[in-house]
Amino acid sequence: MSWAPIATIADDVNAGRVKAIDLVEQALAAIEEHKDYQAIISTLADAARSQAKSIDEKVANGVNAGRLAGVPFIAKDNLLVMGVEATAASNILKGFVPPYQSTVINRLEAEGAICVAKANQDAFGHGASTENSDFFVTKNPHDKTRVPGGSSGGPAAAVVLEMAPFAIGTDTGGSIRQPASYVGCVGLRPTYGLTSRSGVVAMASSTDTIGPLAMTVEDLAYVFDVYAGKDELDSTTIGRDPAGYQLPAAAYQLPTARIGVIKEWMGEGLDDDVRESVEKAIADFKAAGAVVEEVSIPSLPLSLAVYYILIPAEVSSNLARHDGQRYQFSEQSGKDLFESYTLSRAKGFGREAKRRIMIGTYVLSSGYYDAYYKQAQTVRTKLINEFNDVLERYDFLIGPVAPNAAFKIGENADDPLKMYLVDMMTVAPALVGVPAISLPITPSSQTSMPIGLQVIAAQRRDRELLEFAAAAEEVVSHG
Ligand code: GLN
Repeated sequence: MSWAPIATIADDVNAGRVKAIDLVEQALAAIEEHKDYQAIISTLADAARSQAKSIDEKVANGVNAGRLAGVPFIAKDNLLVMGVEATAASNILKGFVPPYQSTVINRLEAEGAICVAKANQDAFGHGASTENSDFFVTKNPHDKTRVPGGSSGGPAAAVVLEMAPFAIGTDTGGSIRQPASYVGCVGLRPTYGLTSRSGVVAMASSTDTIGPLAMTVEDLAYVFDVYAGKDELDSTTIGRDPAGYQLPAAAYQLPTARIGVIKEWMGEGLDDDVRESVEKAIADFKAAGAVVEEVSIPSLPLSLAVYYILIPAEVSSNLARHDGQRYQFSEQSGKDLFESYTLSRAKGFGREAKRRIMIGTYVLSSGYYDAYYKQAQTVRTKLINEFNDVLERYDFLIGPVAPNAAFKIGENADDPLKMYLVDMMTVAPALVGVPAISLPITPSSQTSMPIGLQVIAAQRRDRELLEFAAAAEEVVSHG
């Protein structure tokens, strides 16, 4: 059974027309029905049922239960939910039950939303397929032999399998947008700083963002409005748009939009089915009256190299806390503390985490810092300037989300460089800190898999981005 629009669900619960407990049972039944897709790491059945009961009691007592009253949702496993194991799909965090809860979950719960499950991901967010999960691989809802993308592959698949009306993921370099594109849902990477990182297992602190995944832009905006904004527990957070993020009643007027098509993303390395789908979307925007022109961001071809220097540097630093003493897993056979550190990390971390720790430590080491880390930061600044420049002339930039549609499980798994190439189009907005959305478009007849369009706006223009995406959804999704 499909879910009603999220605002409608909450209204129905508050009016007593629908019971929160029935919504939770519906979500739990869908999770059970689709367990062979392996989207879920743990299910919160008891906690969810008791939250639902207290919401239903509130409503029975005439109290409003919030803007998300009784709405079930799924959280990526790197978000801390009080009392529930948070592994970030890693062996080293297996069994770790957090003593506090992330700000995003607090804000959603305060409005009556109910977390029903924690979803699979690439361990710590390192990957683009969920194949780097230390536990199991999630399958694409459209084809079980293909990946759902990553690292938020579990949350994305869960939304498409209707396990809940929305999910919360994280996007450090594409981990919301790319899985959304591979499974055919919408996903938002917000402006950096607009979402609190408090209570989220850190990957790369200068680009980590927390974003929603849903089936419609309307639902995405509705949920985002509940949790976006400043948080005293994360000093990098910024204030909300005073107008909020919920979609206004009046539709965005597409003919007023100035859209730049990113030239560097439409060239080499793009699969034909993606190119054809994106070109069709471009034609649809033109037909709707928007001004669509080609733009160039000259440093863009360097963004993948910059990302895979800077992000491992931050990863190596953030993963230093997992030392076998402070969290769950600890290898006991070491003869002293130092050996306990090294053995715990050797056993506890998977291959990709180790690779990133080694690359990151290398680029930060005194002999190589100038050659790699410093150079990469210089190019990052150049990229920021180039994006700012084109975003002064255009309201939105568009292009593919990824160079390909969902690939086969195993196809890229043994070749980290091939896997990194999948991130070609998603890393630059992350390095620059601008918001970007992944929107399903009509796929070319060359593929049976979903394909997403990436739409990017200037920093802090998340509201405009969502408004535009809602209008664009009508134009490009039903061609
Ligand atoms: N695929 C990218 C990486 O492996 C993005 C990950 C992310 O956004 N968490 O780094």
